[in-house]
Amino acid sequence: MMKLSKFSIGVGDRFGHQAKAQLKACILAGHAGIDVVPVWNKSNREHTIIGSEPSSVRAAAAAAVKELGWTLPWFCDADHINLTTVVRFLDSCDFFTIDVADSIGKAAERSSIDAFVKRHPELAGDIWLEGAGRRIEISSELLAKTASKFLFAVQEAGSIYRKVEAAKGKGAFIAEVSMDETDAAQTPAELLIILAAIADEGIPVQTIAPKFSGRFNKGVDYVGDAEQFSNEMELDMAAIQRAVASYGLPANLKLSVHSGSDKFSIYPAINASMKKFSTGVHLKTAGTNWLEELIGLAEAGGDGLALAKEIYAEALAHADELCAPYATVIDIDRAKLPTPQEVNRWSSEQFTTALRHDPHSRAYNPSLRQLLHVGFKVAARLGGRYLSLLEANEAVIAKNVTENLYARHIAPVFLGSYEDSTAQALQTGGEAAGKSH
Ligand SMILES: [Zn+2]
Repeated sequence: MMKLSKFSIGVGDRFGHQAKAQLKACILAGHAGIDVVPVWNKSNREHTIIGSEPSSVRAAAAAAVKELGWTLPWFCDADHINLTTVVRFLDSCDFFTIDVADSIGKAAERSSIDAFVKRHPELAGDIWLEGAGRRIEISSELLAKTASKFLFAVQEAGSIYRKVEAAKGKGAFIAEVSMDETDAAQTPAELLIILAAIADEGIPVQTIAPKFSGRFNKGVDYVGDAEQFSNEMELDMAAIQRAVASYGLPANLKLSVHSGSDKFSIYPAINASMKKFSTGVHLKTAGTNWLEELIGLAEAGGDGLALAKEIYAEALAHADELCAPYATVIDIDRAKLPTPQEVNRWSSEQFTTALRHDPHSRAYNPSLRQLLHVGFKVAARLGGRYLSLLEANEAVIAKNVTENLYARHIAPVFLGSYEDSTAQALQTGGEAAGKSH
């Protein structure tokens, strides 16, 4: 059976030019003593906006793997697919994020809810979560209520899973079930019940993406109570351990954190919980890769900086249109957005420090960052003009992509270390990466 490694990172490469720079960050992790495997993810929405096909993601990743001599596993993720959108991904992907968030709350047939409750008397009552050293209580009412809230969604996940299995073959792909794109967070008790239902459906799920409490806005830090998050994550991990032991789900089943990128303030909690439970996570990031491209262009100066400014002006002019599909996952303060005239006077340094997510920098502007995050459509419209500048400035962009992924994400989450201590590793590791490949 195709198996996802303990530590994995979901990376997005919207324009298909950074796979090598991203893979370099995983190579640096290897040099630091930890294997983190890459999963290139791109959703149907992103493909549609950019005008790309899933085969292009696989081709770019495969080329990077070959060029850098990567020997560990790697995957391509059909991100957030459903029954209708899955088709175009079947050939090129080997990881499927089965998104059934929209089906939460739709009623399953009464008889299947009753049958589920009857089949799982062990889920009602006091449930000991060994790993967390805590008890959670699930009343029979809560069990029935949770079943009626989630059973239809899990059945839907079963239909999608079987569609993929019919095309690719059993054990030939990784299945993730995601319920993160919804309003209400799922509790650890709900997660346990959902996993029992997933096992009943016969889905060999290797990653599960619940919605956690707090806000996971695109490209900016977590908004919420980090301590509460930590508590919730530990109970979720304990619920997963129990579900694996009780329902025969794959032993490597782990949480998938759809981070929306850059949730720096909860990275220490993720690292600590993984250590406590001797488990891994799949950390999904995506859109900030395109921001690193913009930062690199701005840093390059000249035509690169000019294009970055042009993209900002366009994004600002079309802010309503660009923000609409992402309304629930961004918080932009329009008053904090500089005018295009102001930005046109900026130096490379001013542009990059406003955009780069350095929480300690006074110049960092989260509103500008979120607007540009959703503004990749503007670059897509520029087509060849954008891509040829990416190519012309490859070195400076690649440096930003690798450094961002390694120092700001991989190191704090998987190694438990921070920017200052990893800066040096990046320097020496970067050289080693250059030498050995
Ligand atoms: Zn997601």
